[in-house]
Amino acid sequence: MHNRPQTPDFSGYAEQVFNRCDALALHSQSYEGMDRRYLTPEHSMANLQVAQWMTAAGMETWVDQAGNQWGRYKSATPDAKSFVMGSHIDTVPNGGIYDGILGIVLPISLIQYLSDNKVKLPYHLEIVAFGDEEGTRFGTTLLGSRAITGLWQQQWAGLVDAQGISIEEALSNFGCEFSQIQDASRLKDKLLGFLETHIEQGPVLEAEDLPVGTVSGIAGAKRFKLNIKGHAGHAGTVPMTMRADALVAAAEMIQVVEEVATELGVVATVGKIANYPNAVNVIPGDVEFTLDIRSEIDSRRDTVLEILQQVLGQVAEKRKVTLDWKMTHSANAVACDPKLQHLVSNSISAAGYRQFTLPSGAGHDAMAIADICPVGMLFVRCEKGISHHPAESVMVDDIEAALKVLNNFVRFYQNQYQEENQVSLSSPDLCA
Ligand SMILES: [Zn+2]
Repeated sequence: MHNRPQTPDFSGYAEQVFNRCDALALHSQSYEGMDRRYLTPEHSMANLQVAQWMTAAGMETWVDQAGNQWGRYKSATPDAKSFVMGSHIDTVPNGGIYDGILGIVLPISLIQYLSDNKVKLPYHLEIVAFGDEEGTRFGTTLLGSRAITGLWQQQWAGLVDAQGISIEEALSNFGCEFSQIQDASRLKDKLLGFLETHIEQGPVLEAEDLPVGTVSGIAGAKRFKLNIKGHAGHAGTVPMTMRADALVAAAEMIQVVEEVATELGVVATVGKIANYPNAVNVIPGDVEFTLDIRSEIDSRRDTVLEILQQVLGQVAEKRKVTLDWKMTHSANAVACDPKLQHLVSNSISAAGYRQFTLPSGAGHDAMAIADICPVGMLFVRCEKGISHHPAESVMVDDIEAALKVLNNFVRFYQNQYQEENQVSLSSPDLCA
């Protein structure tokens, strides 16, 4: 990069981010751990607070028809395109105060810095606080980000929460209209890209002794329910050689899952198991367990699945049980845009840190936004990789590092934007 960044002092802004994460934590449905769900009064209060900070940073603000809070740091060129930063403002029950929130509060303080230093950009820089990513109220994830991609489905109107309140009703109580949800969608040709800053939710950056890292992509996940049927029988009377013990078969299969996944470079987890009849003196006749398998590369994940189907089938045959697979979830991997990855990595090294690239095993808003524009992600180290838990913790020094990186990113992106803009001006045949 020819434009060498200065190294401004971001310590005050980092303190601001740190304190604001604490301040947003006050808007929780529970006193024990965070709990802020989509379209609740707590969501509304959090939006208001975020909008106040956006306004103080010189942004214009609005809430879209899906309840997402937006802010725009306007370019001097009114019809300029927008680059968007942001993440989600909802939390899981008994969650932490940084997951999602950091990716909203951090760029607001960056814009506060730009505004304090009278920095003007050739494009609009927008921040979005998505109302729902976790899906804990209505059981469907990424509702906020999917609304801006225009991919809400009509049947979602009838999704209900634990109290029987439908999305349609909840939106209306929030001041939005399900019938107007298309108004929340953004035009592809007006968006330059999306950069999401998020806590890593894993232990890799900590192990690498790094504050931040570039995300290469978001793993695609498939989930299954596996059912094993053997023969229940008396624990005392059926000889060992004449059994079809479903739980022992499951134990061997779970071990095979671990071995194959480790060997072939994917992550696979058996997280839930049910054993029937689950009695002290009965040979287990029926076992159901789940399998969650993820990879940044869909074809690798699917190859591993084929191998697992074959090997687990052999285990079933050997143990005289039947095995039935049922897929319950499927999402493809999303690659981060190579140009944005490159800019993020350069921004990291220009801030004085070692470049490091890692995949995301967890889903993020950027997955949905990838449908309408290039996406990038910056991960920030979190203590012991803990997330979705009140013990979630981020160091203020790492927030400062992330602010420096985002500031470099904005400068580098500006250079790239201006170069590309000149190209398109001198080449009228090129479509935007
Ligand atoms: Zn998150």
